[in-house]
Amino acid sequence: MPKIGINIATGSLQQPEMIVGIDLGTTNSLVALLHPDSRTPIVLRDQNGLALVPSLVYFGEQGELLVGEEARPFLRTHPERTIFSVKRLLGKSYKDIKDHQQHYAYKILDEEQDSLVKIQMGDRFYSPVELSSYILKELKSRAEHMLKTTVSKAVITVPAYFNDAQRQATRDAGKLAGLDVLRIINEPTAASLAYGLGTDPQQQKTIAVYDLGGGTFDISLLRISNGIFEVLSTNGDTYLGGDDFDRAIVDHWLQKQPTWLTSLQENATLLASLRLAAEEVKRKLSDESSASVSIAGQSVSLNREQFNELVAPLVDRSLQCCQKALQDAGLSSKDIDEVVMVGGSTRVPLVKQQVAAFFDKPLNDTLHPDEVVALGAAVQADILAGNNKELLLLDITPLSLGIETMGGLMDVLIPRNSKIPFKVGRQYTTQKDGQGSMRISVFQGERDLVADNRKLAEFTLKGIPGMPAGFPKVEVSFLINADGILTVRAKELRSGVEQSIEVKPQYGLTDAEVERMLLESITHAGDDIKKRALTEARTEGELLLGQTEKFIAKNASLLSKEELLRTAEAMQSLQLSLTLEDKDLIQRQIEALNEISRPYAERAMDQAVSGALKGKSLQ
Ligand code: AMP
Repeated sequence: MPKIGINIATGSLQQPEMIVGIDLGTTNSLVALLHPDSRTPIVLRDQNGLALVPSLVYFGEQGELLVGEEARPFLRTHPERTIFSVKRLLGKSYKDIKDHQQHYAYKILDEEQDSLVKIQMGDRFYSPVELSSYILKELKSRAEHMLKTTVSKAVITVPAYFNDAQRQATRDAGKLAGLDVLRIINEPTAASLAYGLGTDPQQQKTIAVYDLGGGTFDISLLRISNGIFEVLSTNGDTYLGGDDFDRAIVDHWLQKQPTWLTSLQENATLLASLRLAAEEVKRKLSDESSASVSIAGQSVSLNREQFNELVAPLVDRSLQCCQKALQDAGLSSKDIDEVVMVGGSTRVPLVKQQVAAFFDKPLNDTLHPDEVVALGAAVQADILAGNNKELLLLDITPLSLGIETMGGLMDVLIPRNSKIPFKVGRQYTTQKDGQGSMRISVFQGERDLVADNRKLAEFTLKGIPGMPAGFPKVEVSFLINADGILTVRAKELRSGVEQSIEVKPQYGLTDAEVERMLLESITHAGDDIKKRALTEARTEGELLLGQTEKFIAKNASLLSKEELLRTAEAMQSLQLSLTLEDKDLIQRQIEALNEISRPYAERAMDQAVSGALKGKSLQ
């Protein structure tokens, strides 16, 4: 018998607070929870039995706002006022998406290349965070309506490749919708949880999660052992999905019906109609061998073979990503124990067939492919509610994170592919005497020079008390929490002054960019080593010059004329070598100056020691 609590103060029934799991998808979104009695995850449906809330927002001319199913008809009649695929824009700048702008019928502002994308609707501008919050609000109110109680806590899923900016944007959207987002979890992890993989602590498995949705494709390789989920590698294509299948069909029809091509110019809604018709045909072809629809009074048909031919190159692209993910994880398809299918487009028979052939395995496709992520999010919500303490989730960072050190070098604190949550600290010191502040610049990327990586944030640790150079101990710590959000803290240990920042980058990295940065780090590895060596030599040279200058100013009386002259000459040569690109030359000059200064430095040291001992009696 389930126990029912009573709130003594009010006398009302006290329901345990429900934490919902939300799959905020590119095409559709869903909300699910763990049924308190059956302890199985269920998706919440509307009165018509529909689980999917289309990720659509329509702005009416009279200021009305429609979300989900109600907005759908306007995709056809008012494409310019109906926002779709907003997830693609989360945490992105215009620069990130400009090559794909033709995908959006609505107006994306392109004035400031580097700032976050905004969408113009009449004379108002909306951010993707705001738009996503409308979808989340709709899911929240659906849940509240069904459960007859307020729902204020949620777990929201994101693709495994989402970077800090995108995760933060998702979290912000939740906040705007009035949700306390307890955890952002990766979609493949959620999908595996929905299949109950990993719930048995004895189970040790390597899993491929193949997720082909409406707009994006992701492949993630996970290892589950001792109830711990670990992402081994991820790959994917942010512009590959069921929408592309639809587009391939539309292109095929346009080629066959050149009159449509010309009428497209006059008829703005025709393209949207064609797209919706293509989707309908595609869905039918998942169960039937041929399908037909009527568009603009004309009937068009397509059979399974024709469809397969149209989408085969797209399916192939997804398999190439699978190959790369295997390579990254150092695995072959034989090492995969389970293949989990996620996303509405995995209903396409050609997709199932090709994926099963690629991994040479039967597929896990018994759950609804578009519900499985939300179901898993509900399982995670239940874990967070404290009902299942045995599971732990681990994810990885896609790119290295570090700070800029002298000479513009990247000092990596969290290497790429580190498991999160992750905490690391390292000590740094000042360069100049009496230096009262220290700038901490945080970068993401694989290259040795920060100039080639991406700056995420910057802050200044102020109020360091005056001390000689090299004296302060500044501990910089990086903490990535379980949501993948980075907090950087700097603390001067002698004085206790402290400063920290939560890293909310200006805009996100596209998948293609992450890939490019990784690739560049490999192709430029040789260059980078050379550049790093040169920078290090220069930094060392500069330091030595500074120290020598200081030493001489203080101890000139201990040096002979000859020594002073030779030192000045060696300093000049070193100074000159710093302007040249020759690391060996710099090192030779450093050595030469050291050689000259060593004898008198030792002399000065002896003198200082004997001075310090003078007058003191040693027992
Ligand atoms: P998701 O983003 O996971 O909700 O997937 C949505 C995508 O799945 C859209 O492109 C849909 O057209 C596609 N889809 C849904 N049902 C089917 C089906 N029965 N056959 C083929 N594609 C489908």
